Amino acid sequence: MPDRKPPSRTARAPTRRRPPKPVDAGTLRRIFERFREAEPEPQGELEHVDPYTLLVAVVLSAQATDRSVNIATAKLYGVASDPAAMVALGEEAVAEYIRTIGLYRIKAKNVVALSRRLLDEHGGVVPPSRAYLESLPGVGGKTASVVLNMAFGEPTIAVDTHVFRLSHRIPLLIAPTPDAVQRGLEERIPREFLPHAHHWLILHGRYVCKARRPDCPRCLIADLCRYPDKTLPAPPADGAAAA
Ligand code: SF4
Repeated sequence: MPDRKPPSRTARAPTRRRPPKPVDAGTLRRIFERFREAEPEPQGELEHVDPYTLLVAVVLSAQATDRSVNIATAKLYGVASDPAAMVALGEEAVAEYIRTIGLYRIKAKNVVALSRRLLDEHGGVVPPSRAYLESLPGVGGKTASVVLNMAFGEPTIAVDTHVFRLSHRIPLLIAPTPDAVQRGLEERIPREFLPHAHHWLILHGRYVCKARRPDCPRCLIADLCRYPDKTLPAPPADGAAAA
């Protein structure tokens, strides 16, 4: 049996680093001023032409990339871009159009079912009602928030994986669940920034403050962010220093 070394008397138990506190209100405002200055009118990346095609695209985007959804909806919306046409197309055919997207069978079922509900209950029109949207098949709080924000300009923040990560990294707000982050951000972020806050955060998380390795050297809020493990610029390639 191997000797087990006794712990050194001077050894210290590993300490867990305390996360930084969320930025103060003034810094939070400056962060969103920077986002606004860089991109005054940020756009979502899901292709759509009206609230209905947006709703369907967001339902399809669960656990799928926007790009894969856009490829599928380009064909699907060519034959069915309103609730009546979607119901007429039917679940099997919808599934064929979206089969390159994960969970396509259940998504096809939900899209046809929600289209039928919209036809029967709202004349085929998507109403700006969170309660109603969340009652539709395949539509949860996040999807409802995206539709209310993008289609109806409501100051909501849909908390996806990017927004949740950024909120804790910068930090804007620390809270245990996406719902709590949403409520907290909607309270903390000044109202003038709320209509676009969701897109600024998503796009920043997707292209700069990425999950595995944030690109801090090219981050426009690096001096305001309190993340303790910011990345450094890449070292020059071989030979570049000597040149
Ligand atoms: S400085 Fe780095 S960690 Fe902070 S927001 Fe920018 S990319 Fe993210």
